[in-house]
Amino acid sequence: MIKFLDNKLFRYLSVFLFLNSSILPIKASSALAAWAINTKGVLELRTKSNTNLKAYFQKANQISGDRFWVDFPGELKNPRTIKGNGPIKEIRLGKPDKGKTRLVIEFKEETYLEPLTWQMVGLDQNRWRIKLFNPKYSFKKIGEGLVEKKKGNIKANQNLIYKKKNNYGYLKLPEVKRNKFEVVIDPGHGGPDPGAIGIGGIRETDVVLEVSKIVKKLLSEKGVKARLTRSNDVDLDLPPRVSIANNTDADIFVSIHANASRGKRRDINGLETFYYRGWRGRLLAKRIQKQILRVSPGSPDRGVKQGRFYVIKNTRMPAVLVEIGFLTGRLDARRLEKLTHRKRLAYAIAKGILEYLDKVG
Ligand SMILES: [Zn+2]
Repeated sequence: MIKFLDNKLFRYLSVFLFLNSSILPIKASSALAAWAINTKGVLELRTKSNTNLKAYFQKANQISGDRFWVDFPGELKNPRTIKGNGPIKEIRLGKPDKGKTRLVIEFKEETYLEPLTWQMVGLDQNRWRIKLFNPKYSFKKIGEGLVEKKKGNIKANQNLIYKKKNNYGYLKLPEVKRNKFEVVIDPGHGGPDPGAIGIGGIRETDVVLEVSKIVKKLLSEKGVKARLTRSNDVDLDLPPRVSIANNTDADIFVSIHANASRGKRRDINGLETFYYRGWRGRLLAKRIQKQILRVSPGSPDRGVKQGRFYVIKNTRMPAVLVEIGFLTGRLDARRLEKLTHRKRLAYAIAKGILEYLDKVG
């Protein structure tokens, strides 16, 4: 069914599709399981079975280009932006309201679309297709997850999402002056000291080492010299961690840890960042805390705090200690055991560091 709504501001083309009126509970996960825009300009969607979709088109205005969007029931976990190509500027996945998911396709200026001819076609209970444009030149397929697979599990698709580096769009790393800065990253614990042990035996030493290595790689790509205090599972006392930073005159020191709550309470989750002194340390902590929260929706913000940890107290440069979540917490542990989430955290930490260097360095 195609319906037109006209008003002075916008022109909408609405495609309402009601296959079944089953309504998901507000807390349900997103009904969008996978999507792709193929080389022929066709948007393909895979949803949960019997999902109600609502699709809209809006002509370009001063703020944005032509936009086509589809609303799905169920709440999206990680809002994100994916870069387009050809006539597509970008694709945004967001949650316009609690319990909703919105897929927005924004076109570049001066694309000649014919939304009046558009038709959303339901292929079966959970697959949809709509032709959006005819590519003039070769168009590179964009998508997340497998649209073909009929019974998919959403988890597997979410893992796919973060495999491609480009898809970290919403965490785009800022540029800083190359070959100017030196950063020491300190993965907590190691060797006989595994740090916190969480749900299912997940070990702090492993989680923070992996995150730290990715942070190092990301910083190196931006021309920041990054050094790890340990690069494998070895025993390293606290004083040598500090002297690595002090002896190399590093600009900043970032120690990465994961938390455990007393009594291993599963209801305690959250992220926090500590500094010991100075406005620089505090600013660095704030920047990192803000970014790690962005990739950990729903996990409590335990704040930026002063702490007297040895490694941040005895380093001479601005120093922080980041706690990336509770390995004993139900919400955090489930995420921290996934490489995709560790990568996201590493991106977030690297982003906080680069923002700080850009501002203060
Ligand atoms: Zn620790």
